[in-house]
Amino acid sequence: MPGPGPILREIHRLRRSIKELDSAIENGPRQLKAQQNKIAKDEDSVHRAQELVKQSKIKIHDKEVSIKATQAEMAKYEKQLGEISSKKEYDALRREIASAKDHIREIEDEILVLMLESDDKAKLVPEAEKAVKKAKDDLAVFERDLNDRLKRYAEEKARAQQELKQVEATLPADIKSHCDRLVGMKGEDSIAAVEGQTCTACYTDVTAQMANDLLRGEFVLCKSCGRILYAAAPTAAAAEPPA
Ligand SMILES: [Zn+2]
Repeated sequence: MPGPGPILREIHRLRRSIKELDSAIENGPRQLKAQQNKIAKDEDSVHRAQELVKQSKIKIHDKEVSIKATQAEMAKYEKQLGEISSKKEYDALRREIASAKDHIREIEDEILVLMLESDDKAKLVPEAEKAVKKAKDDLAVFERDLNDRLKRYAEEKARAQQELKQVEATLPADIKSHCDRLVGMKGEDSIAAVEGQTCTACYTDVTAQMANDLLRGEFVLCKSCGRILYAAAPTAAAAEPPA
């Protein structure tokens, strides 16, 4: 009668599959939340860019008003120039006009900077809006599919759990209680395959005797990591005899 090796292999496979389903079930809503957060952030930057463009327009308008006011003042000074006889007053007026001109140049430079800035932002807005719209559409599809997937995962998990229960029930009682205790502590990670002569969990070699026992399907614990072992391939050739 073959040992429990093939049963342990099947238990390990089912437990790993249940673990993977669990993480898929957990990940789905997390991915959804992450996508929602990203869209909210992108939408926010679009709004901020639009707001900046709007604010720039207001600032530019204010500065244009200020230029007009200064120009009107300059025109007034220039008119006064013709009516003044005192050299001192004339010179003072010329200085006023020169400083008004400087002032206008400064404001014009500021307007230019604002225009360049807001043009750059304005150019980005349509692209960003398009990207947000696409992300929202993708999200709607993802959300719809996610619900289907979660349902499927839950069904697969229930099936695997049912199968696991049946397979575990076929273990000899003493081995089952050992297995239950270890799995209870460390989950599916308390079982490991041996490939060739190496424990695939801790990469320590088992003895030739243990490898042969495993190939016969016998119950073997890894001397290094304490895991329950089974031979990886059901039809592997017998362990090579020591040279
Ligand atoms: Zn080990």
